[in-house]
Amino acid sequence: MRVYKFGGASVKDAGSIRNVGHIIQTTNAGKLVVVVSAMGKMTNAFEKVINAFYQEGLEAANLALDEVKSYHIQEIIPLFENEEQVIKDIMPFFESILSHLSSSDKTDYDQDYDQVVSVGEFASTKIIAAHLKEIGLRATWLDVRHVIKTDNRYREGNVDWTKTEEEIKTQLTALSDMYDIIVTQGFVGQSPEGYTTTLGREGSDYTASIFSYCLDAESMSIWKDVPGILTGDPRRFENLTKIDRLSYKEAIEMTYYGAKVIHPKTIKPIQNKNIPLHVRSFIEPDGEGTMISGEIELNYPPVIVVEDNQALVHISTRDFSFVAEHHLSKLFDIFTKYRVKVNMMRNTAISFTICTFDDQEKLNSLKEELATEFKVVVDHGQELITVRHFNQEVVDELKKGKIVLFEERLSNTLQMVVKNVPIVKRK
Ligand code: ADP
Ligand code: ASP
Ligand code: MG
Repeated sequence: MRVYKFGGASVKDAGSIRNVGHIIQTTNAGKLVVVVSAMGKMTNAFEKVINAFYQEGLEAANLALDEVKSYHIQEIIPLFENEEQVIKDIMPFFESILSHLSSSDKTDYDQDYDQVVSVGEFASTKIIAAHLKEIGLRATWLDVRHVIKTDNRYREGNVDWTKTEEEIKTQLTALSDMYDIIVTQGFVGQSPEGYTTTLGREGSDYTASIFSYCLDAESMSIWKDVPGILTGDPRRFENLTKIDRLSYKEAIEMTYYGAKVIHPKTIKPIQNKNIPLHVRSFIEPDGEGTMISGEIELNYPPVIVVEDNQALVHISTRDFSFVAEHHLSKLFDIFTKYRVKVNMMRNTAISFTICTFDDQEKLNSLKEELATEFKVVVDHGQELITVRHFNQEVVDELKKGKIVLFEERLSNTLQMVVKNVPIVKRK
C-alpha cells in the first residue's frame, strides 16, 4: 500500500482535479490511499462562514456559505457528464452546516468551527472520488471519521493512536480487497462523542502520515506546487536550490522551525516506521522531487525558514526575585493553558523573554493572568528567521535592512528575531 496526499493547490479547480486524476492513473502506484485537502483556499472561505455566524448570525453565515457552494458547483460542472449526481452527493454536507449552526448556542466556538470547516474536505473528496471513477479507476470514498479517532480538543485534535490503528487496519484491509484507490479527507477526525474534529490548519500532511504509519505503507508522496523541498520559501527568496535528499532529522527540524512546505507533525510517524516520504511536484510529476528518509546526508546547504507575525514577550518579576525554576514551571503551565507556542526563549536574573505568534487575543489573556506577579511588555510586528547550516554570507544578507533584536547560534542553527528598519524622514 502507498499513500498519496494532494493539498489545496493541487485540487483548486476542475483542471487541477483532472491533473490529479492523470497523476494517479499514470504513476501506477498499486493499492493507494489518497488523502485530499479542501479545494484551493476553501478552508479560509469556510472560516468566513463560521465567523459570520458568530459575529452576525445565521443569515450572514448562509450568505457566506452560498459563495462556497457556488464555487464548488462551478468547478463540478465542467468535470462530469452527469454533474447533477455529484452536486446531489455534496449538498448534504453543506446542509449539515446550517442544521448544526441553527441549534448552536454559540458557547463552543472551536467545536462549531470544526463542524463547519471540515466540510471543505468532505466536498473535495466526493468530487475527486467521482472523477477517478469516471476515468475508469476502481476508486471508493471513505469517511475519515470512521477511522481517525481523536480526543475532543477541537481545532487541534490529538489522535488516539490505539483506536485509530485498529480502525485503519481493519477497515482499509477490507476496502482494499474491493478497490484499488481509497479517497479520504485530510485534516479531519472524530471525537469520542461522535463530533467532527480537525487536526490543526494545514493538517492534511499529518493525516497522510497517520495512514502511512497504521498501514506500514511502502512509501508516502505529497504532491506540491514546488519541485521539492527548496533552500527557502520561493514566495520570499530567489535563487533557491532543490534539496534532493533529506534525513528525517533534518526534515523535522526544518518543519519545527516553520518551513511551510510540510506540516510539522508529519515526520514522526513515518520516521518511527522508516517509511520514505517523497515530496513531488504536481506540475512536473516526472521530476525527482525530494526524498526524505533515514539516510544521513552530512552536507546540507544553508536553509532559511521565516516566520512572520511574531511578538517578543518580555516577562519580569515585580519584586526583583530571580526568574528561577518555580517561576519557569509556572510560566510554562500558563503558556500551555493559553496554547502559547514558544518559538525562542531567553532568561536573565529577573526577566524571561519569549518569541511567539503575535495573537493579540491570546497575548492579552496571558498578560492578564500574569499581571499580579509579573510585568509584561509585548513588542509586536517581529519576524523570526532561522537558518540551518548557516554561513556568514547568508546571515549578513538576511540582516540587510533589519534591526536584530535577539540572536542565538547553535552549532547547526542560527535564529534571530528581527524588525524592518523604519524609514526615518529627515526634516
Ligand atoms: P498544499 O497545497 O499541500 O497545502 P502548501 O501551499 O501548504 O501546499 O505548501 C507548499 C508551499 O510551501 C509552496 O508553494 C511554497 O511557497 C511553500 N514553502 C515554504 N517553504 C518552502 C521550502 N523550503 N521548500 C518548498 N516550498 C516551501
Ligand atoms: N484544508 C486545511 C487547511 O487549509 C488542511 C490542509 O489543507 O492541510 O488548513
Ligand atoms: Mg496547505
